Amino acid sequence: MQNKSQTSPAGPVIVILGTGGTIAGSGDDVGYTAGQIGVPQLVAAVPALASRSLEAEQVAQVDSKDMSHEIWQVLAMRVQHHLARPEVGGIVITHGTDTLEETAYFLHRVLSPAKPVVFAAAMRPATSLQSDGPQNLLDAVTVAGHPSASGVLATLNGRVHGPVEVRKALPFALDAFSSGEAGPIALIQEGQLRLLRPWPVCEALGMGRVTHAPAAWPPVDVVVSHAGASGRVVDALVASGTRGLVIEGTSNGTVHASLLEAIERAQAAGVSVLRSTRCAGAAVVGAPGGALPSAGELSPAKARVELLLQLLGQLGAPPA
Ligand code: ASP
Repeated sequence: MQNKSQTSPAGPVIVILGTGGTIAGSGDDVGYTAGQIGVPQLVAAVPALASRSLEAEQVAQVDSKDMSHEIWQVLAMRVQHHLARPEVGGIVITHGTDTLEETAYFLHRVLSPAKPVVFAAAMRPATSLQSDGPQNLLDAVTVAGHPSASGVLATLNGRVHGPVEVRKALPFALDAFSSGEAGPIALIQEGQLRLLRPWPVCEALGMGRVTHAPAAWPPVDVVVSHAGASGRVVDALVASGTRGLVIEGTSNGTVHASLLEAIERAQAAGVSVLRSTRCAGAAVVGAPGGALPSAGELSPAKARVELLLQLLGQLGAPPA
């Protein structure tokens, strides 16, 4: 779906790609439906954006709890397309808050762009009397148009988060996002960017990783270790064809002995494993002998993206 509209010219072009979410939601603060309002209307609600050179394009219109690999693939292609245009200074992606951190990490690992790609979201719908969407959108455009900014970022509530650390920590608060102990990359104060630490960068895996039809992407699942755990879930997942398992371990990625036996059976059957922690905002540190491969600082949801991209790299070129 493409719905392009160009507004007044000033400065480098910022492309706003819409994917839905509460920022595009309609209804009251509790009983609203996410993903209802198009990007041109979201832009029109922010008078300060009238003087900016913007393009709007609707890539999807979903509640991000339902984010799919199909949308990720299309989004990555549209981001790559616009980044290659010399007149484009940066990209803003409007997105639901539920899975924002996964989509951000996905684009970070696939593209690691030199230009800023900035996620904007909201905790209150566009029709709320006190919607946070317009300010967050304005801040995201400020960051996307900033000459020094680069990489995939998320701008919410005056903070600019990086794609590795950012996570939704609270389901209702306006200040719902956190970068844990690392803290935000920058702050936006009085419309000005205050940089606290370097912009995010990694070795991009490249678009070749995501060219296979999403139906062919290897299944990767997350399993939690907990008191009274058994190997049943892992055995069932292996029987149903999973190719990768992210273990959401206790503490520093420790795993219940009964679950571990099943994980080792899965590994012997060729299933790839990454070990993360269910401690919010924490990293798995060290790799004691015999331990399962560590997801390091990645949350379980981001470790799933990482493992998915690793497995996609083993598929080779898609059929012509
Ligand atoms: N369920 C919504 C979404 O992720 C929540 C939000 O955007 O705040 O699309």
